[in-house]
Amino acid sequence: MNSFTIVFLIALTFSFSVQFWLAKRHADHVAKHRSAVPDAFKNTVSLEAHQKAADYTLAKSRLGNIDSIISAALLLILTIGGGITWAFEFWASLITSPLLAGLTAVATVFLIMTLVEIPTSLYQTFVIEEKYGFNKSTPQQFIKDQLLQLVLIAAIGMPLLALILWVMDSIGSLWWLWAWAILIGFSLLMSWLYPTVIAPLFNKFTPMEEGSLKERIQGLLARCGFSSQGIFIMDGSKRSGHGNAYFTGLGNNKRIVFFDTLINSLDDEELEAILAHELGHFKCKHTIKMLIANAAMTMVSFAVLGWLIDQQWFYAGLGVQQPSHAAALLLFTLVSSSFTFFIQPIIAYFQRKFEFEADNFASSNAKAEKLISALVKLFEENASTLTPDPLYSAFHYSHPPAAIRIANLETQIRPA
Ligand SMILES: [Zn+2]
Repeated sequence: MNSFTIVFLIALTFSFSVQFWLAKRHADHVAKHRSAVPDAFKNTVSLEAHQKAADYTLAKSRLGNIDSIISAALLLILTIGGGITWAFEFWASLITSPLLAGLTAVATVFLIMTLVEIPTSLYQTFVIEEKYGFNKSTPQQFIKDQLLQLVLIAAIGMPLLALILWVMDSIGSLWWLWAWAILIGFSLLMSWLYPTVIAPLFNKFTPMEEGSLKERIQGLLARCGFSSQGIFIMDGSKRSGHGNAYFTGLGNNKRIVFFDTLINSLDDEELEAILAHELGHFKCKHTIKMLIANAAMTMVSFAVLGWLIDQQWFYAGLGVQQPSHAAALLLFTLVSSSFTFFIQPIIAYFQRKFEFEADNFASSNAKAEKLISALVKLFEENASTLTPDPLYSAFHYSHPPAAIRIANLETQIRPA
């Protein structure tokens, strides 16, 4: 341990306290506004639905707090508690190749972190989601999903990690630039493969049937000059009652996906308006801007890691006695969020700005009033709170709070 230990502990305590304080503000705000539906929603949302949303938000918030405490405790155990040192020493005593030993040690730490997360995830799915009527998953489905995720991470993540560790060991001082390029190339490849290769492992995708809805959607796509590899309906209802619509894929491998739960709760014009919003993200180049911003942030991270990797105090400060490239990569991944959490509200600010732009695009290519009614239904059906704490939502929300978002859309309703 050294003075960097103190710096790390201060950063962790500070980020943890800020998150906790924001979560408490949010819970207090939601509880305070539980007794009455906000004026803007008086005619569209029932008191019963409003109170269900408040209770659901509070339940998730309590679990979130417990989860944060567990994560912080685990982080301390792994770093200054000696957990990472133990994993590296254990595998180094069994495996002679330093690369393989490092790889196995990193995998062991991630496996431990995944296992520790399981009780929270079980409680979330089978207690909270169950209580509020959202859970459609069975324990068998849950186990199957967890195992499939582990297999995928092992099959895809381990070779990638091995390649990056090899680059770190073999390429010299500019390794971080190579590692960055490999990671970005890999994530682009994954985005391209996701809709046709990975997503179908978890869900069934059925092409949308011919009919008035499909014609309406094709009309919208033609108006906006957008081509895709098809419109699909996903059996989201096998796990959860929450509904969504999204685009996936890159370049010519793009798909439009509607959850079956969404199709069942919205009418054709509302679905068109939701899709117009999603198209807005493409047309306003949000996807590409996010990709570039992400690539730039990743590059900065790798450059910082490229410097830290040679600093003895970095390892010692975080409880690791034997410096290695694998240990540096692992430590950096685990502790960096304690130092960079203040970037979160900046990213969230841009995400909300993009949401307004996509809403405006939707208003000029579909009906703003239909997007409003769709959003109200979605807020109600997902039991999303209509009364978030302003500071909490500014920090965390990737979408504008309901009242602000709908007020913007109301200014864009065109006379019939
Ligand atoms: Zn959006």
